[in-house]
Amino acid sequence: MHPMLLDSIQRLKPLGRWLYEHSTEALWDRDTRTLPSDLQKRRRDYRRFAEQFIAPLALEVDRDPERADLRPLYIEAGRRGFLSETAPWPFGTMPWRSIFRRHIFHFALKAEEFCAACGGIGLALLFHDLGMAPLLLSGDLGVWRRWLWPICHANRRGKIRLVAYAITEPEAGSDVEESEGATCARFQTVARKVPGGYCIRGQKVFISGGGRCDAVVVFAVLEREDGQPARVDRDFTAFIVERGRPGFRIGRRERKLGQRACDATQLFFDDVFVPESHRIGPERSGWALNRNVLNYSRAVVGAIALGIARGAVEVATRFARETRLGGRPLLAYPEVQLALAELWTITMAMRAMVWQSARYPRPVQGIAAATKALCADLGLYVANRAMELMGDYGYLPPYGVEKAMRDVRLNQIYEGTNQINLLAVIESLWTPDIAGAPGEGFSAIG
Ligand SMILES: Cc1cc2nc3c(=O)[nH]c(=O)nc-3n(C[C@H](O)[C@H](O)[C@H](O)COP(=O)(O)OP(=O)(O)OC[C@H]3O[C@@H](n4cnc5c(N)ncnc54)[C@H](O)[C@@H]3O)c2cc1C
Repeated sequence: MHPMLLDSIQRLKPLGRWLYEHSTEALWDRDTRTLPSDLQKRRRDYRRFAEQFIAPLALEVDRDPERADLRPLYIEAGRRGFLSETAPWPFGTMPWRSIFRRHIFHFALKAEEFCAACGGIGLALLFHDLGMAPLLLSGDLGVWRRWLWPICHANRRGKIRLVAYAITEPEAGSDVEESEGATCARFQTVARKVPGGYCIRGQKVFISGGGRCDAVVVFAVLEREDGQPARVDRDFTAFIVERGRPGFRIGRRERKLGQRACDATQLFFDDVFVPESHRIGPERSGWALNRNVLNYSRAVVGAIALGIARGAVEVATRFARETRLGGRPLLAYPEVQLALAELWTITMAMRAMVWQSARYPRPVQGIAAATKALCADLGLYVANRAMELMGDYGYLPPYGVEKAMRDVRLNQIYEGTNQINLLAVIESLWTPDIAGAPGEGFSAIG
């Protein structure tokens, strides 16, 4: 606050002073105080962890992701309960009341804090929440007892078990993420009923954490008994497959532009047998489950973009304060001031959207998809402008801003490209979800 204003405030009546927020608290602390107490605590915990354990590794892991040893980080995150938040206490670390009200909010706060420190390491920790989501959202108590609770419990004790999420195939990506595509998708991964369970055959590509996970939730079309061709929308079924099962092979790790700390890997299923207990939800319920998982996690993908963008703006602001040009700090130049003011304003708007989306106790398709798409676009804009502001230095790895730009570009692609997310918003325009109930207003026109 400007010192002149501080002076003038003292002249107001006490009630007048009280009615307005005059503290000089930082935006982050101010925002945190608006949250319910459990979320305030988590936000502080996530930030502390990110600053202490993620930020110091960020540049090194980005440089050489294949050589980096993230095991100590996983153990630390596991012990702090950050890898078991899909299940409620006492199995996992999510309070019961949050599971039904503020679950997505927890994940969104975690994503922003982790990714402000490093988008790649953030994703290397967050892919597990995506992998665990179908276990939770199956709503199947047997699945919770057999898989969800033991995995969360193991992670809390530091015996790390990570789960990845696999839908994408060489010839099917967007198609399985929106309704029309699903009716005609060419889907290779097929499950066949065999005595005692199922036999899975096919392959998946670009699976985040695929090379590191201990198990993967894989979606396959279940062969039909009536001889009709199996279809994604009618026959999709989810299974959990542990690493080490005969026929389950890890393939190539892709060389990525950004979020490099997290692998994106091919997975092969060569007639992998899984018993009935490995089916997640009823047979042929996978289409709804997949859509629900994506809607559940899209606000979190928006929060990843927000975190990366915030990290870049923080660096650019420090740079503008500390760098001198023509005898003055860069921040004294009006163009720089305007540019930074715009970037901070955009990150505030992104946070407002992510938090608003995360406030819904259960995800809403159009809102989740709109959040993911807009935040991914704004995140890239912010990172790019932050880089521009820093001139040559923005282009150099030690500052981390060129990395932020590479990292955030991925948010426009995964969890459905932005175009596919906008199709989900369009779908909601035909229903009351976003646009309200259809009226009769224009029927008379034409
Ligand atoms: C690094 C990385 C990590 C990933 N992690 C995972 C993961 O953990 N698990 C997983 O299952 N998948 C993962 N993916 C896959 C990702 O979700 C898909 O790549 C993404 O959904 C796009 O699918 P696609 O590659 O088949 O694109 P395509 O479907 O081939 O799309 C190509 C282009 O066409 C556009 N397009 C397609 N259909 C339409 C349409 N109907 N209308 C308008 N435009 C359209 C798309 O927007 C895109 O621009 C990851 C991908 C990457 C790159």
